[in-house]
Amino acid sequence: MANPINVNIAVIGAGPVGGILACRLANAAHSVLLVDRAAPPHMERSGFDGRVYAVATGSRPLLEEAGLWQRLPFEPCPIDHIGISEGKLPHSKTSILLHFDHRQAADNPFGWIIEAGSIRLALNSALKDSSRIVLRAPAQANVERYTDRALIKFAGGETYSARLVIAADGRTSTLRASAKIPVTRLAYRQTALVCAIAHERPHNNVALQLFFPGGPTAQLPMTGTAEAIHLSGIVLTESHDVADQLTRMEITRFNREVGRRLGDHLGGVRLIGQRWSYRLSALHAHRYFAPRLALVGDSAHTVHPIAGQGLNLGLRDAATLAELIDANDDPGSLRLLAAYQTARRPDNLLMLAATDSLNRLFSNNLQPVRVARDLGLAAVERMPWLKHLFMRTAMGLNA
Ligand SMILES: Cc1cc2nc3c(=O)[nH]c(=O)nc-3n(C[C@H](O)[C@H](O)[C@H](O)COP(=O)(O)OP(=O)(O)OC[C@H]3O[C@@H](n4cnc5c(N)ncnc54)[C@H](O)[C@@H]3O)c2cc1C
Repeated sequence: MANPINVNIAVIGAGPVGGILACRLANAAHSVLLVDRAAPPHMERSGFDGRVYAVATGSRPLLEEAGLWQRLPFEPCPIDHIGISEGKLPHSKTSILLHFDHRQAADNPFGWIIEAGSIRLALNSALKDSSRIVLRAPAQANVERYTDRALIKFAGGETYSARLVIAADGRTSTLRASAKIPVTRLAYRQTALVCAIAHERPHNNVALQLFFPGGPTAQLPMTGTAEAIHLSGIVLTESHDVADQLTRMEITRFNREVGRRLGDHLGGVRLIGQRWSYRLSALHAHRYFAPRLALVGDSAHTVHPIAGQGLNLGLRDAATLAELIDANDDPGSLRLLAAYQTARRPDNLLMLAATDSLNRLFSNNLQPVRVARDLGLAAVERMPWLKHLFMRTAMGLNA
């Protein structure tokens, strides 16, 4: 074997968490090998994507430190208000049961709705410009871990030596499996249909969550485009059958169906771009590390998208791990890896439990449960301290 090329860190998986973490580490002078089995999507050539992330206020500093916020090509849309409502079909009048105004908790908005394509464009441009990141994609790497380092080998013989390998390879992580880290899985019999809609009236930066028996429907405010001045992202969760029907439905009928769910506050709605669908499940890894290996993002935990927190949790993993790496001589020491797990597990487990419970409580049409939760929502509306706690949590800030 030829002498391996030394890097400080290898990140496997150039999705949002792995890509952002690689840029953040490189900006702090670490040399990074970044590998993805897929070619980086060339968003420059594709049309409007329509998938969005709700990026919490607390996640913004990481995007800035990674040099990505400054490169976002489309303006993120601030979330100034969150409305929660019981879903009714047809939903003629939109009545908000619980209303959160960011000014009651902080000066900052709750977060921003950012198109997935916008993050990808910023990442592509930062990766191209970084002299400290070696990007291998599409490529399959074979990872061997030893007590003092890991070897990352590619077909053809090219080999890298890193002191830490970070698994950012998503929910089906092969690195997690090869380290024999067990996971607990929760299957949801739900599919999320994701798309963007243009509408007649402005959204006023309100993110709306409507609870239907089949699952929640979220309307997420987006920055308008020339084609659609008033624009929102939709994440519609339903049983597999209903979601599959909606995904295949003829567009005029689909527009009517989405309008029926959202109520009258946006006026007429029309689909922009394509519909995407995701079978939903949650998982949690029993350990976040093994010798010379750390799990981040969806490889460590996947949560129900009901609160739009999945990526935010991954970004908080990335920020914590990067800070520990900056402060220690050996980025792969067991002491550092244990400290990372101790710091991140409670937050991730809490969000897993909270999103799972919210989904069970609201995806339910039993009369006593409906009455109890409406009373519960009305009670929360009258408890400013509890609303304050919820709002700070949604922002990804310390309560
Ligand atoms: C419907 C839906 C809506 C959501 N909305 C939100 C939201 O509003 N806000 C939010 O915070 N989160 C949201 N999430 C969650 C969010 O999408 C995920 O948490 C996030 O994509 C996880 O990013 P990741 O980089 O960890 O993993 P992924 O995005 O899965 O990326 C993994 C990367 O690893 C690569 N890879 C996989 N295996 C290998 C291998 N063996 N070798 C090399 N590379 C490999 C893949 O090609 C991919 O590029 C939503 C999720 C769903 C399903």
